[in-house]
Amino acid sequence: MGSAVYLDYNASAPIRPEAAAALSEALGLAGNASSVHGFGRALRHRIETARKAAAALVGAAPAQVIFTSGGTEANNLALRGDWARVLVSAGEHDSARQAVPEAEMIRLGPDGVLRLDSLDQALAAQGGPALVSVMLANNETGVIQPIARIAELVHGAGALLHCDAVQAAGKIPVDMAALGADLLSLSAHKLGGPQGVGALVVREGIDLPALLRGGGQERRRRAGTENAAGIAGFGAAAEAASRDLDKAAGLAALRDALEAQVRALAPEAKIFGAEAPRLANTSCLTMPGVAAETQVVALDLAGVAVSAGAACSSGKVTVSHVLQAMGAAPDEAATAIRVSFGWRSAPADVEHFIAAWSELYRRAGRGRSAA
Ligand code: PLP
Repeated sequence: MGSAVYLDYNASAPIRPEAAAALSEALGLAGNASSVHGFGRALRHRIETARKAAAALVGAAPAQVIFTSGGTEANNLALRGDWARVLVSAGEHDSARQAVPEAEMIRLGPDGVLRLDSLDQALAAQGGPALVSVMLANNETGVIQPIARIAELVHGAGALLHCDAVQAAGKIPVDMAALGADLLSLSAHKLGGPQGVGALVVREGIDLPALLRGGGQERRRRAGTENAAGIAGFGAAAEAASRDLDKAAGLAALRDALEAQVRALAPEAKIFGAEAPRLANTSCLTMPGVAAETQVVALDLAGVAVSAGAACSSGKVTVSHVLQAMGAAPDEAATAIRVSFGWRSAPADVEHFIAAWSELYRRAGRGRSAA
């Protein structure tokens, strides 16, 4: 049974109607976008329209966009280039942390923000052309990194910067040039597009070897027949998300109302990353003494869908590496869940959440139920 209240947008956002329409329209077309006949050209047109929309979302030129199978592939394509050294922040998504096993880690502070002294130190070490990978916004806590400042340090040391903007795009304005990012990852399903499609946006002049070799698609940077329908859906979602950026910022009202009520019910509850700039839609909060998995199951039974730590790895019960990197005690981190809002969220969702959360807290012998 599906949950009535969906508060897990950072895991995957429900598809936007515009994206579903573009996807299904393109799915109905015959052909291969590489073919020169009319059928092929019709699909090519859908892909190039989407390329413009994805580029516009991050202030880039369409020719900079390489469509991929998602954020994971985009991160792998960026990190597994010809780099003598790869440095990643300790809070990166597993698709960046694990892309290069020998990558060096840069530390986070207790607020979830990258430690610039740790970056400086790592950059000072010699070892050839380096790539540094730091995400714009964290998927678990929503903490936003000072990418423009990080880019200055990275470029000052002669290195290049990859920015995983998978969670940020469509939630906050993203301008690749203003950020100073040389490479930037996107994923359609985090902004209301279909799953299984994303992009790596590459600054002009960067020579990046293809991960997938074969045909000449995507200017020889990513072989394989394009997922034309998925890409069309991505483009429509990117356009809608760009248009709705104000609404995305307005989600702070829901998030703040939820956090205020949790704090009133349980003053000892911890909200990770609350001291740093954060995405408006994300809250990573603890229910003291109650395991995250227990909370997720109980909230699901009450019709509220949230996740424990990173949803991508929530099948396994491991303490979040992000919270660990912020210095959280394992016991406390194990009681943290992530609530994330999005384009279809409404104030009633907060009421449902608080009713279910407070009831569980009361049953756990901890608090009083909400009035
Ligand atoms: N990067 C971040 C920050 C993410 O949150 C995710 C997905 O959770 C990814 C990358 C991977 O994206 P995809 O699911 O498209 O492979």
